[in-house]
Amino acid sequence: MADLLRSGNTMLNMACPVCSNPIFRNRDGKTFCPTCNRDVKVVKSRPHQDNVIKSEPNIKEQEKGYHYDKQNELINSLEEVLLEKIEIITNKLKNENHLQLIETYTNILINCFEILNTIQSKR
Ligand SMILES: [Zn+2]
Repeated sequence: MADLLRSGNTMLNMACPVCSNPIFRNRDGKTFCPTCNRDVKVVKSRPHQDNVIKSEPNIKEQEKGYHYDKQNELINSLEEVLLEKIEIITNKLKNENHLQLIETYTNILINCFEILNTIQSKR
C-alpha cells in the first residue's frame, strides 16, 4: 500500500465492491483495486462526468459567440467601406457628364445599396 502511494497513487475513501479493500486512483485518474488487480468504476465520479458533459456546450457557445463577434465586426467594417464608396461615387457623379460613366457609377451605387440593405435587414 505504501508503495502504491509512493508511486503517485491516491487512496480513495471508497472500498472495492469485490474485496472491500481501499480503491486507489493513479496519476491518469484511473481508479483501480490493487488487491483484485482490476479497474474499478467509481460511481462518485459521475457528477464529475456530468460537469465535463455540461462544459462542452459552454465551450461551443463561447466559440459561437466568438464567430458572431467576428462576423459582426466584418459586417460593420463592410458597411463603413460601402458608405465611403457611396460618398466617393456620389461626388464623382456630381461632376460627371459622360453618360456611360454615369451608368457605371449608378450601377455601383445600386449594388452598394443592395448590400447595405441586406446587411441592415439581418440586424
Ligand atoms: Zn478488490
